Amino acid sequence: MLVGRLAPSPTGLLHVGNARSLLLAWLAARHVGGAIHLRIEDLLPDGDLHLPELLADLRWLGLDWDPWRGHDFIRQSARSPLYDALLADLLARGDVYPCVCTRKDIDLAARAPHVEDKGAAYPGTCRDRFANEQEALAFEQIRAQQENRPPLGVALRLRVPDAPVTFVDLLHGPQRVVLPRDSGDIVVRRKDGGVAYMFAVVVDDWAMAVSQVVRGDDLLEVTGQQLAVYQALQRLDSSHLPPFAGLPQYAHVPLVLGDDGRRLAKRNQSLHIGALRRDGVSADRLRRWLATSVGLAPTGDLAELARSFDWVSLPRAPMRFGTQERAELDTP
Ligand code: GLU
Repeated sequence: MLVGRLAPSPTGLLHVGNARSLLLAWLAARHVGGAIHLRIEDLLPDGDLHLPELLADLRWLGLDWDPWRGHDFIRQSARSPLYDALLADLLARGDVYPCVCTRKDIDLAARAPHVEDKGAAYPGTCRDRFANEQEALAFEQIRAQQENRPPLGVALRLRVPDAPVTFVDLLHGPQRVVLPRDSGDIVVRRKDGGVAYMFAVVVDDWAMAVSQVVRGDDLLEVTGQQLAVYQALQRLDSSHLPPFAGLPQYAHVPLVLGDDGRRLAKRNQSLHIGALRRDGVSADRLRRWLATSVGLAPTGDLAELARSFDWVSLPRAPMRFGTQERAELDTP
């Protein structure tokens, strides 16, 4: 059975673009009678700020989900013991190493990176530099003293393979990523001790036996990094995870852009689902607009949309949702 997931981050409010990607994930799973689980990606401090509104938005949209192991949904913030146990094992194997570098990508590592965040590849400065985490920590403490600042913690990085990583995206076709050139070794735990998005997402997709990942295409280029995490976990063969059920099929769907041609984000407040709801837009009207935008017949009936769903009709170009489209939702 196909297993999909809805994996929103409640750091911001859901906007039309998020809703469209979530709807596509839902339709792709329900079309084939598959299951879909809800996973709240709340790894950042204050990462659950908008959780109540997020749940209200999903329910209002009419998207349902299947419980996982007796839980209505799971929250990554509650899963640190699993992530930490796996990181400790990877560290013991030498697949992961401590890193004291102060780089912007370490700050960015906690959340799903989006296109504009892309920095240079990590040059591997701390590869084979420290015998263990304590040594790295001692190094950082001395440096902090010299620089007259409080010590930061130590990050953990995963060694990426030299060989190209390949996969086939359902919409973008064959992909080939050379990780040492494109990203370098990946941060899997931040300096503040929190686990990085790139690691948690794979651990959870594996643990939940997710077989299809549908998400915005700004994450296409980090998928290779996630496959490197899969490879490392496969080598680990840990009892903390169920047996490996295979890699998911990835489908990276076009983003929704605002009037300014940039992807919808926190600044587009009037296009948040909650704002539409409060403005009196009906869920059926929004679903009908979303259905047309993904190439389906204009109906807000989710069962009907799930029946008629077809990847082939999905437009491949980014979708626009600006002032004009917002006004269309006011017409019945
Ligand atoms: N939580 C991520 C986001 O909202 C999506 C991650 C994923 O689907 O892998 O951007």
